[in-house]
Amino acid sequence: MACMRRCPTQAIRVRHGRAQISEELCVDCGLCLSACPEGAVVPMADQVTEMSRFAYKAVVPSPVLYAQFGPDIHPYIVHLALRELGFDEVADVSASTAALAAALAKYLETYQGRRPLISSHCPSTLRLIQVKYPDLVELIVPLDVPREVTARELRRSLPAKLGLAPEQVGIIYLAPCPAKIVSIKQPAEKEKSYFDGAVAIRDVYPVLLPHVVAAKRRFAESQVPGDYTFDPGWATTGALTRFASSANWLAVAGIDQVMRIFDDIENSKLRNVDFVEAMACMMGCIGGPFVVENPYVARATIERQRERYVRQCDVDFAEIERRLRQRYYFFEHPILPRPTRYFDTDIETSIKRIKERERVYQKLRQIDCGCCGAPTCLAFAEDFVRGEAELTDCIFLRQQETRVPS
Ligand code: SF4
Ligand code: SF4
Repeated sequence: MACMRRCPTQAIRVRHGRAQISEELCVDCGLCLSACPEGAVVPMADQVTEMSRFAYKAVVPSPVLYAQFGPDIHPYIVHLALRELGFDEVADVSASTAALAAALAKYLETYQGRRPLISSHCPSTLRLIQVKYPDLVELIVPLDVPREVTARELRRSLPAKLGLAPEQVGIIYLAPCPAKIVSIKQPAEKEKSYFDGAVAIRDVYPVLLPHVVAAKRRFAESQVPGDYTFDPGWATTGALTRFASSANWLAVAGIDQVMRIFDDIENSKLRNVDFVEAMACMMGCIGGPFVVENPYVARATIERQRERYVRQCDVDFAEIERRLRQRYYFFEHPILPRPTRYFDTDIETSIKRIKERERVYQKLRQIDCGCCGAPTCLAFAEDFVRGEAELTDCIFLRQQETRVPS
């Protein structure tokens, strides 16, 4: 029941002793994974071994991966270790991150519509908006994310460079969370992701660690190629707003806090803010459900790595503007609301259902005990109205029904 209580969108019901997740309400935040003491929630991640089907294997790590090994590990050591693990190429997202930050700054500068705009790089908050805040969909910045732009450029360049057919080249992402994996397997903003798969950082970490230790012993700074770039990017809360240099910004992390800010935006309380960076995990992606390191330790590591190893890439602003005009950085499809079946699309039916829900709710104890398998009495009343629960699933109503009058 811990997962049911922790789910921020009330997507979980416990029926007949088993937890069931409603696909239409789940926003892939992964909080149920951490809450379940039995490890019963299984995410749809790939395994590194599945890459063996490709002739050439490229990997794009989330910058969060570098923060899992401590500040003395140069990020290039992690690249060497990934090659030893069997990848032919390791591509960093730094160049795409810098380009997209510049594109975002330009977009914010010229944007004229309703405010505040909301960042697009956390797929869990995007899904939250689609499901719970459909009115805010129009505020999502329609720019793609560094991992997809990086994979797209690899997808275009590698087959020609290597003389291979496109299907012989595999590109995989190392992800800090289930939301990014789902965004690769079922993207909301394009037909198909440029990645062939996604592996959870926590799954690759145990096999990668011995290679990192071995690579560190042999490593000399002179091995780092001249064209190598590194920046920890948007892995921590506030990093994107720093990059995008918007004047009136707000950075919020943790899905409960994000929901409070979205409530405020819906209620027109944040009109003086231009841009909201919203990340579902506490402290940002370093707090993702698929990381190994404590997020506070990871943040300290990232700051040390930023001081010691950063190698920024040059940003060609004229090229960024040209690509913006060509809509190269934009989502292929707009993000659309994903209305739930809770209140139907037809207004008359919705009003009837809301009234019926209220009638049932008034019969309940309203103590949110969870014994019926729903997280709150209101959620139980909704389930009943949708025909997914019986009144006798509530132990108090059942007792009333079976009580023998004295
Ligand atoms: S991933 Fe998040 S939204 Fe989905 S069921 Fe788990 S806790 Fe709920
Ligand atoms: S904050 Fe980062 S790690 Fe957490 S759900 Fe969003 S994208 Fe994933």
